[in-house]
Amino acid sequence: MSSSPPPPPPPPPDSSSLPPGSRATRFETSRGISVATSFDEMGLKEDLLRGIYAYNFERPSAIQQRAILPIISKRDVIAQAQSGTGKTGTLGISILQRIDTAVRETQALVLSPTRELATQTQGVIAALGDYMSVQCHACIGGTRMGDDIRKLEHGQHVVSGTPGRVYDMLKRRVLRTRHVKMLVLDEADQLLDRGFKDQIYDIYRHMPPGTQVVLLSATLPHDVLDLTQKFMAEPLRILVKRDELTLEGISQFFVNVEKEDWKFETLCDLYDSLTITQAVIFCNTRAKVDWLTRQMEDANFTVAAMHGDMLQKERDAIMIKFRQGASRVLITTDIWARGIDVQQVSLVINYDMCTNRENYIHRIGRSGRFGRKGVAINFVTSDDIKLLRDIEQYYGTQIDEMPMNVADLM
Ligand code: ADP
Repeated sequence: MSSSPPPPPPPPPDSSSLPPGSRATRFETSRGISVATSFDEMGLKEDLLRGIYAYNFERPSAIQQRAILPIISKRDVIAQAQSGTGKTGTLGISILQRIDTAVRETQALVLSPTRELATQTQGVIAALGDYMSVQCHACIGGTRMGDDIRKLEHGQHVVSGTPGRVYDMLKRRVLRTRHVKMLVLDEADQLLDRGFKDQIYDIYRHMPPGTQVVLLSATLPHDVLDLTQKFMAEPLRILVKRDELTLEGISQFFVNVEKEDWKFETLCDLYDSLTITQAVIFCNTRAKVDWLTRQMEDANFTVAAMHGDMLQKERDAIMIKFRQGASRVLITTDIWARGIDVQQVSLVINYDMCTNRENYIHRIGRSGRFGRKGVAINFVTSDDIKLLRDIEQYYGTQIDEMPMNVADLM
Protein backbone atom coordinates (compact mmCIF):
# COMPACT_ATOMS: atom_id res chain seq x y z
CA MET A 1 0.00 0.00 0.00
CA SER A 2 1.46 3.32 -0.95
CA SER A 3 1.52 5.78 1.86
CA SER A 4 -0.17 9.08 1.24
CA PRO A 5 2.14 12.09 1.00
CA PRO A 6 2.75 13.92 4.22
CA PRO A 7 0.46 16.87 4.78
CA PRO A 8 1.91 20.20 3.80
CA PRO A 9 3.47 22.13 6.65
CA PRO A 10 1.07 24.54 8.30
CA PRO A 11 1.25 28.09 6.98
CA PRO A 12 3.40 30.45 8.98
CA PRO A 13 1.35 31.87 11.79
CA ASP A 14 1.67 35.58 11.29
CA SER A 15 3.48 37.89 8.96
CA SER A 16 5.39 39.30 11.90
CA SER A 17 7.38 36.09 12.09
CA LEU A 18 8.44 36.29 8.47
CA PRO A 19 11.32 38.18 7.01
CA PRO A 20 9.91 41.14 5.12
CA GLY A 21 8.96 40.27 1.58
CA SER A 22 9.31 36.52 1.93
CA ARG A 23 5.70 35.94 0.97
CA ALA A 24 4.09 39.20 0.05
CA THR A 25 6.33 39.93 -2.91
CA ARG A 26 4.17 42.73 -4.18
CA PHE A 27 5.11 44.84 -1.21
CA GLU A 28 8.19 46.86 -1.33
CA THR A 29 9.78 46.18 2.00
CA SER A 30 11.62 48.52 4.21
CA ARG A 31 15.10 47.20 3.50
CA GLY A 32 17.35 50.00 2.41
CA ILE A 33 15.14 52.83 3.63
CA SER A 34 16.84 55.49 5.62
CA VAL A 35 16.66 55.37 9.38
CA ALA A 36 16.47 58.71 11.14
CA THR A 37 17.90 58.30 14.60
CA SER A 38 16.86 61.73 15.82
CA PHE A 39 13.78 63.91 15.30
CA ASP A 40 16.08 66.78 14.29
CA GLU A 41 17.26 65.01 11.18
CA MET A 42 13.73 64.32 9.89
CA GLY A 43 13.37 67.80 8.40
CA LEU A 44 10.22 68.47 10.42
CA LYS A 45 8.57 71.87 10.80
CA GLU A 46 10.05 73.92 13.60
CA ASP A 47 6.78 74.23 15.55
CA LEU A 48 6.15 70.49 15.25
CA LEU A 49 9.62 69.73 16.56
CA ARG A 50 8.94 71.98 19.52
CA GLY A 51 5.74 70.08 20.20
CA ILE A 52 7.53 66.73 20.06
CA TYR A 53 10.18 67.77 22.58
CA ALA A 54 7.62 69.47 24.80
CA TYR A 55 5.75 66.15 24.83
CA ASN A 56 8.95 64.60 26.21
CA PHE A 57 9.86 62.50 23.20
CA GLU A 58 13.64 62.77 23.06
CA ARG A 59 14.54 60.16 20.48
CA PRO A 60 12.37 58.42 17.91
CA SER A 61 11.52 54.79 18.63
CA ALA A 62 12.43 52.08 16.11
CA ILE A 63 9.15 52.36 14.21
CA GLN A 64 9.30 56.16 14.29
CA GLN A 65 12.85 56.07 12.94
CA ARG A 66 11.74 54.00 9.97
CA ALA A 67 8.16 54.98 9.20
CA ILE A 68 7.88 58.75 9.60
CA LEU A 69 10.10 59.67 6.64
CA PRO A 70 8.36 57.43 4.08
CA ILE A 71 4.94 58.58 5.29
CA ILE A 72 5.82 62.25 5.00
CA SER A 73 7.23 61.55 1.56
CA LYS A 74 3.59 60.67 0.68
CA ARG A 75 4.06 56.92 0.19
CA ASP A 76 1.41 54.40 1.08
CA VAL A 77 2.84 52.64 4.13
CA ILE A 78 2.03 49.56 6.18
CA ALA A 79 3.73 49.88 9.54
CA GLN A 80 3.86 46.94 11.89
CA ALA A 81 5.48 47.07 15.30
CA GLN A 82 4.72 45.65 18.71
CA SER A 83 2.27 47.26 21.13
CA GLY A 84 3.53 50.25 23.01
CA THR A 85 6.41 51.06 20.69
CA GLY A 86 5.20 54.40 19.40
CA LYS A 87 2.86 53.81 16.46
CA THR A 88 0.47 56.53 17.60
CA GLY A 89 3.41 58.93 17.76
CA THR A 90 4.39 57.80 14.27
CA LEU A 91 1.01 58.61 12.79
CA GLY A 92 0.64 61.81 14.77
CA ILE A 93 3.99 63.27 13.77
CA SER A 94 3.56 62.24 10.14
CA ILE A 95 0.10 63.78 9.89
CA LEU A 96 1.20 67.01 11.52
CA GLN A 97 4.08 67.30 9.10
CA ARG A 98 1.82 66.67 6.09
CA ILE A 99 -0.95 69.15 6.87
CA ASP A 100 -1.06 72.85 6.18
CA THR A 101 -2.68 74.60 9.13
CA ALA A 102 -3.29 77.69 7.02
CA VAL A 103 -5.99 75.66 5.25
CA ARG A 104 -8.86 75.20 7.64
CA GLU A 105 -10.15 71.99 6.08
CA THR A 106 -9.80 68.32 6.96
CA GLN A 107 -6.58 67.03 5.46
CA ALA A 108 -6.06 63.82 7.39
CA LEU A 109 -8.54 61.25 8.63
CA VAL A 110 -7.56 58.64 11.23
CA LEU A 111 -9.87 55.70 11.90
CA SER A 112 -9.74 53.55 15.04
CA PRO A 113 -11.88 50.61 16.17
CA THR A 114 -12.95 52.07 19.52
CA ARG A 115 -14.10 55.47 20.71
CA GLU A 116 -11.53 55.51 23.48
CA LEU A 117 -8.68 54.90 21.07
CA ALA A 118 -9.94 57.53 18.63
CA THR A 119 -10.12 60.02 21.49
CA GLN A 120 -6.67 59.09 22.78
CA THR A 121 -5.20 59.58 19.30
CA GLN A 122 -6.92 62.94 18.98
CA GLY A 123 -5.32 63.93 22.28
CA VAL A 124 -1.84 62.85 21.18
CA ILE A 125 -2.14 64.75 17.88
CA ALA A 126 -3.43 67.85 19.63
CA ALA A 127 -0.56 67.67 22.13
CA LEU A 128 2.18 67.10 19.57
CA GLY A 129 0.68 69.88 17.46
CA ASP A 130 0.32 72.26 20.36
CA TYR A 131 2.60 74.88 18.80
CA MET A 132 1.02 74.54 15.35
CA SER A 133 -2.49 75.67 16.30
CA VAL A 134 -3.82 72.45 14.92
CA GLN A 135 -7.52 71.71 15.06
CA CYS A 136 -8.02 68.00 15.65
CA HIS A 137 -11.47 66.62 16.34
CA ALA A 138 -12.55 63.27 17.81
CA CYS A 139 -15.54 62.18 15.73
CA ILE A 140 -17.01 59.26 17.66
CA GLY A 141 -20.31 57.57 18.35
CA GLY A 142 -22.15 58.10 21.60
CA THR A 143 -21.67 61.86 21.47
CA ARG A 144 -24.06 64.57 20.31
CA MET A 145 -24.31 64.84 16.53
CA GLY A 146 -24.85 68.56 16.81
CA ASP A 147 -21.44 69.04 18.43
CA ASP A 148 -19.76 67.10 15.64
CA ILE A 149 -21.57 69.07 12.98
CA ARG A 150 -20.65 72.41 14.53
CA LYS A 151 -16.99 71.45 14.94
CA LEU A 152 -16.67 70.05 11.45
CA GLU A 153 -18.44 72.96 9.82
CA HIS A 154 -16.04 75.27 11.58
CA GLY A 155 -13.17 73.33 9.97
CA GLN A 156 -10.84 70.71 11.46
CA HIS A 157 -7.38 69.95 10.09
CA VAL A 158 -7.42 66.40 11.40
CA VAL A 159 -10.30 64.10 12.28
CA SER A 160 -9.73 61.04 14.46
CA GLY A 161 -12.81 58.91 14.62
CA THR A 162 -14.64 55.63 14.67
CA PRO A 163 -16.03 54.31 11.38
CA GLY A 164 -19.77 54.65 12.09
CA ARG A 165 -19.84 58.30 13.06
CA VAL A 166 -17.24 59.29 10.48
CA TYR A 167 -19.27 57.67 7.72
CA ASP A 168 -22.38 59.41 8.95
CA MET A 169 -20.62 62.78 8.80
CA LEU A 170 -19.34 62.00 5.30
CA LYS A 171 -22.82 61.12 4.07
CA ARG A 172 -24.19 64.36 5.47
CA ARG A 173 -21.32 66.16 3.72
CA VAL A 174 -20.44 67.82 6.98
CA LEU A 175 -17.05 66.18 6.89
CA ARG A 176 -15.69 67.71 3.73
CA THR A 177 -13.13 65.64 1.88
CA ARG A 178 -11.86 67.90 -0.88
CA HIS A 179 -8.61 68.59 0.95
CA VAL A 180 -8.09 65.16 2.47
CA LYS A 181 -4.69 63.81 1.54
CA MET A 182 -4.20 61.03 4.10
CA LEU A 183 -6.34 58.18 5.37
CA VAL A 184 -4.83 56.35 8.35
CA LEU A 185 -6.18 53.04 9.65
CA ASP A 186 -4.96 52.39 13.17
CA GLU A 187 -5.33 48.79 14.39
CA ALA A 188 -5.80 48.13 10.69
CA ASP A 189 -6.39 44.40 10.98
CA GLN A 190 -9.36 44.95 13.24
CA LEU A 191 -10.75 47.65 10.97
CA LEU A 192 -10.45 45.35 7.99
CA ASP A 193 -12.03 42.44 9.81
CA ARG A 194 -15.64 41.43 9.14
CA GLY A 195 -17.36 43.85 11.50
CA PHE A 196 -15.87 46.99 10.02
CA LYS A 197 -14.63 46.14 6.55
CA ASP A 198 -17.57 47.31 4.44
CA GLN A 199 -17.79 50.56 6.30
CA ILE A 200 -14.08 51.18 5.78
CA TYR A 201 -14.48 50.67 2.04
CA ASP A 202 -17.47 53.02 2.07
CA ILE A 203 -15.36 55.65 3.78
CA TYR A 204 -12.46 55.03 1.42
CA ARG A 205 -14.76 55.66 -1.54
CA HIS A 206 -15.44 59.16 -0.23
CA MET A 207 -11.75 60.05 -0.29
CA PRO A 208 -10.34 62.05 -3.22
CA PRO A 209 -8.41 59.98 -5.76
CA GLY A 210 -4.78 59.53 -4.86
CA THR A 211 -5.35 59.83 -1.10
CA GLN A 212 -2.34 58.42 0.72
CA VAL A 213 -3.23 55.37 2.83
CA VAL A 214 -1.32 54.39 5.97
CA LEU A 215 -1.99 51.22 7.96
CA LEU A 216 -0.69 50.50 11.44
CA SER A 217 -0.98 47.55 13.79
CA ALA A 218 1.02 45.15 15.89
CA THR A 219 -0.71 42.27 14.13
CA LEU A 220 -1.31 42.05 10.40
CA PRO A 221 -2.29 38.55 9.33
CA HIS A 222 -1.88 37.49 5.71
CA ASP A 223 -5.53 37.77 4.78
CA VAL A 224 -5.49 41.41 5.81
CA LEU A 225 -2.31 42.10 3.90
CA ASP A 226 -3.90 40.52 0.85
CA LEU A 227 -6.87 42.90 1.15
CA THR A 228 -4.65 45.94 1.08
CA GLN A 229 -4.10 45.46 -2.66
CA LYS A 230 -7.58 46.86 -3.16
CA PHE A 231 -6.86 50.30 -1.86
CA MET A 232 -3.11 50.82 -1.54
CA ALA A 233 -0.63 51.72 -4.23
CA GLU A 234 2.63 49.72 -4.01
CA PRO A 235 2.78 50.11 -0.27
CA LEU A 236 6.04 50.18 1.53
CA ARG A 237 5.92 47.63 4.28
CA ILE A 238 7.83 48.44 7.42
CA LEU A 239 8.13 45.68 9.92
CA VAL A 240 9.94 46.29 13.15
CA LYS A 241 10.94 42.95 14.51
CA ARG A 242 11.52 42.20 18.11
CA ASP A 243 13.99 44.73 19.38
CA GLU A 244 14.75 46.39 22.65
CA LEU A 245 11.19 47.64 23.11
CA THR A 246 9.03 44.60 22.68
CA LEU A 247 6.82 42.24 24.54
CA GLU A 248 9.97 40.66 25.86
CA GLY A 249 9.49 43.14 28.69
CA ILE A 250 6.23 41.36 29.58
CA SER A 251 6.48 38.16 31.60
CA GLN A 252 3.64 35.81 30.75
CA PHE A 253 2.25 33.27 33.19
CA PHE A 254 -0.70 30.98 33.67
CA VAL A 255 -2.60 29.78 36.71
CA ASN A 256 -4.27 26.44 36.29
CA VAL A 257 -7.60 27.14 37.98
CA GLU A 258 -9.00 23.90 36.59
CA LYS A 259 -12.64 24.96 36.92
CA GLU A 260 -14.41 28.20 36.09
CA ASP A 261 -15.69 28.35 39.69
CA TRP A 262 -12.19 28.63 41.06
CA LYS A 263 -11.20 31.69 39.09
CA PHE A 264 -12.84 34.14 41.47
CA GLU A 265 -11.00 32.96 44.54
CA THR A 266 -7.72 33.06 42.62
CA LEU A 267 -8.41 36.65 41.65
CA CYS A 268 -9.18 37.65 45.24
CA ASP A 269 -5.89 36.08 46.33
CA LEU A 270 -4.11 38.19 43.73
CA TYR A 271 -5.82 41.47 44.62
CA ASP A 272 -2.90 42.94 46.58
CA SER A 273 -0.63 42.36 43.62
CA LEU A 274 -3.15 44.01 41.31
CA THR A 275 -3.04 47.27 43.19
CA ILE A 276 0.75 47.61 43.28
CA THR A 277 0.39 49.86 40.27
CA GLN A 278 -2.56 49.41 37.96
CA ALA A 279 -4.14 46.33 36.46
CA VAL A 280 -6.54 45.47 33.66
CA ILE A 281 -8.66 42.33 33.88
CA PHE A 282 -10.15 40.97 30.67
CA CYS A 283 -13.37 38.95 30.45
CA ASN A 284 -14.80 37.63 27.22
CA THR A 285 -18.30 39.10 27.53
CA ARG A 286 -19.98 42.23 28.81
CA ALA A 287 -22.23 40.16 31.09
CA LYS A 288 -19.19 38.53 32.64
CA VAL A 289 -17.63 41.95 33.28
CA ASP A 290 -20.79 43.03 35.12
CA TRP A 291 -20.94 39.78 37.06
CA LEU A 292 -17.29 39.85 38.11
CA THR A 293 -17.52 43.50 39.10
CA ARG A 294 -20.47 42.75 41.36
CA GLN A 295 -18.71 39.78 42.89
CA MET A 296 -15.58 41.80 43.61
CA GLU A 297 -17.57 44.67 45.09
CA ASP A 298 -19.61 42.30 47.25
CA ALA A 299 -16.33 40.96 48.58
CA ASN A 300 -15.29 44.55 49.43
CA PHE A 301 -12.68 44.98 46.72
CA THR A 302 -12.51 48.27 44.85
CA VAL A 303 -12.72 47.87 41.11
CA ALA A 304 -13.88 49.82 38.07
CA ALA A 305 -15.54 48.35 35.00
CA MET A 306 -16.01 49.33 31.40
CA HIS A 307 -17.67 47.78 28.35
CA GLY A 308 -19.55 48.66 25.21
CA ASP A 309 -23.05 48.55 26.72
CA MET A 310 -22.33 51.52 28.93
CA LEU A 311 -23.23 55.07 28.05
CA GLN A 312 -20.38 56.99 26.51
CA LYS A 313 -20.50 59.46 29.40
CA GLU A 314 -19.92 56.65 31.86
CA ARG A 315 -17.13 55.22 29.71
CA ASP A 316 -15.46 58.63 29.57
CA ALA A 317 -15.66 59.09 33.32
CA ILE A 318 -14.13 55.66 33.92
CA MET A 319 -11.30 56.33 31.46
CA ILE A 320 -10.50 59.63 33.16
CA LYS A 321 -10.42 58.06 36.62
CA PHE A 322 -8.28 55.19 35.45
CA ARG A 323 -5.85 57.43 33.58
CA GLN A 324 -5.51 59.59 36.68
CA GLY A 325 -4.81 56.53 38.80
CA ALA A 326 -7.91 57.25 40.92
CA SER A 327 -9.06 53.72 40.16
CA ARG A 328 -6.44 51.01 39.96
CA VAL A 329 -8.17 47.85 38.80
CA LEU A 330 -10.25 47.87 35.64
CA ILE A 331 -12.41 44.95 34.55
CA THR A 332 -13.21 45.11 30.86
CA THR A 333 -13.75 43.38 27.52
CA ASP A 334 -11.73 43.38 24.31
CA ILE A 335 -12.95 46.95 23.84
CA TRP A 336 -9.81 47.76 25.85
CA ALA A 337 -7.56 45.30 24.04
CA ARG A 338 -6.23 47.62 21.42
CA GLY A 339 -4.18 50.74 21.52
CA ILE A 340 -5.14 52.17 24.89
CA ASP A 341 -2.08 53.63 26.53
CA VAL A 342 -1.92 53.96 30.31
CA GLN A 343 1.72 53.78 31.22
CA GLN A 344 1.14 52.74 34.84
CA VAL A 345 -0.55 49.49 33.87
CA SER A 346 1.91 46.78 34.80
CA LEU A 347 -0.41 43.80 35.10
CA VAL A 348 -2.92 42.26 32.73
CA ILE A 349 -5.08 39.35 33.79
CA ASN A 350 -6.96 37.24 31.33
CA TYR A 351 -9.74 36.12 33.64
CA ASP A 352 -11.12 34.47 30.55
CA MET A 353 -8.58 33.11 28.12
CA CYS A 354 -8.54 35.04 24.89
CA THR A 355 -10.00 33.08 22.00
CA ASN A 356 -8.51 35.35 19.36
CA ARG A 357 -4.78 34.97 18.78
CA GLU A 358 -4.28 38.54 17.63
CA ASN A 359 -6.13 40.05 20.56
CA TYR A 360 -4.04 38.02 23.01
CA ILE A 361 -0.97 40.00 22.03
CA HIS A 362 -2.92 43.27 22.11
CA ARG A 363 -4.41 42.53 25.53
CA ILE A 364 -1.09 41.78 27.19
CA GLY A 365 0.40 44.80 25.41
CA ARG A 366 -1.69 47.09 27.64
CA SER A 367 1.13 46.58 30.14
CA GLY A 368 4.82 47.05 29.47
CA ARG A 369 4.30 50.30 27.55
CA PHE A 370 7.34 51.70 25.76
CA GLY A 371 9.76 49.15 27.17
CA ARG A 372 8.46 49.16 30.75
CA LYS A 373 8.15 45.93 32.66
CA GLY A 374 4.83 44.12 32.62
CA VAL A 375 3.22 40.90 33.75
CA ALA A 376 0.40 38.98 32.08
CA ILE A 377 -1.44 36.24 33.97
CA ASN A 378 -3.77 33.84 32.21
CA PHE A 379 -6.42 31.97 34.17
CA VAL A 380 -6.83 28.63 32.46
CA THR A 381 -9.39 25.96 33.09
CA SER A 382 -8.71 22.41 31.98
CA ASP A 383 -10.55 23.24 28.76
CA ASP A 384 -8.31 26.23 28.09
CA ILE A 385 -4.95 24.46 28.22
CA LYS A 386 -5.06 23.75 24.50
CA LEU A 387 -5.76 27.40 23.77
CA LEU A 388 -2.80 28.43 25.89
CA ARG A 389 -0.42 26.03 24.16
CA ASP A 390 -1.70 27.20 20.81
CA ILE A 391 -0.89 30.81 21.66
CA GLU A 392 2.53 29.82 22.97
CA GLN A 393 3.31 28.06 19.73
CA TYR A 394 1.83 30.75 17.50
CA TYR A 395 4.00 33.46 19.00
CA GLY A 396 6.99 31.25 19.74
CA THR A 397 6.82 32.35 23.35
CA GLN A 398 6.85 30.67 26.70
CA ILE A 399 4.07 30.94 29.26
CA ASP A 400 5.15 29.45 32.58
CA GLU A 401 3.17 28.61 35.66
CA MET A 402 2.83 31.70 37.86
CA PRO A 403 5.57 31.89 40.51
CA MET A 404 4.91 32.92 44.13
CA ASN A 405 6.90 36.14 43.78
CA VAL A 406 4.92 37.48 40.84
CA ALA A 407 4.57 40.91 42.44
CA ASP A 408 8.35 41.36 42.31
CA LEU A 409 8.25 41.20 38.54
CA MET A 410 6.07 44.27 38.10
P1 ADP B 1 1.64 51.95 20.11
O1 ADP B 1 0.71 52.82 19.33
O2 ADP B 1 2.74 51.36 19.30
O3 ADP B 1 0.95 50.91 20.96
P2 ADP B 1 2.09 54.40 21.56
O4 ADP B 1 2.30 55.30 20.41
O5 ADP B 1 0.79 54.45 22.29
O6 ADP B 1 2.39 52.89 21.14
O7 ADP B 1 3.28 54.65 22.58
C1 ADP B 1 3.40 53.98 23.81
C2 ADP B 1 3.92 54.93 24.87
O8 ADP B 1 5.23 55.31 24.56
C3 ADP B 1 3.09 56.19 24.98
O9 ADP B 1 2.92 56.49 26.35
C4 ADP B 1 3.93 57.24 24.31
O10 ADP B 1 3.74 58.52 24.85
C5 ADP B 1 5.34 56.74 24.54
N1 ADP B 1 6.25 57.08 23.43
C6 ADP B 1 6.03 56.91 22.11
N2 ADP B 1 7.08 57.34 21.37
C7 ADP B 1 7.98 57.83 22.24
C8 ADP B 1 9.28 58.42 22.12
N3 ADP B 1 9.85 58.61 20.94
N4 ADP B 1 9.92 58.80 23.25
C9 ADP B 1 9.35 58.60 24.47
N5 ADP B 1 8.13 58.04 24.67
C10 ADP B 1 7.45 57.66 23.58
